[in-house]
Amino acid sequence: MSSTPDNKDPAIVGPDVIIDPELCKGCNLCTYVCPIGVLLISESLNHLGFHPAEYTGDGCTGCGVCFYACPEPGAIIVYKPPRKPKKQKEEV
Ligand code: SF4
Ligand code: SF4
Repeated sequence: MSSTPDNKDPAIVGPDVIIDPELCKGCNLCTYVCPIGVLLISESLNHLGFHPAEYTGDGCTGCGVCFYACPEPGAIIVYKPPRKPKKQKEEV
């Protein structure tokens, strides 16, 4: 899932999460809701004076919870792992 799944960068194979530090307002919602705790608040400041969220870089499952929690459009992009094609039922 990205902000729109179809504009996914083909160079990125999920799961992955990308946070734009300049769009983030540091509200902490994503770090709170992430079920595995791979997001944290940076010690650095962005141009608006907020401490942006950042990804620890490992362990994201691509669940998308942070994407839906974030109130700032475009601040989080989540890349899900590619779907495996469903096995077709064998005809009898
Ligand atoms: S997609 Fe899920 S696992 Fe990955 S950072 Fe967001 S909430 Fe955490
Ligand atoms: S929920 Fe969005 S605005 Fe809030 S800290 Fe996370 S990325 Fe930043």
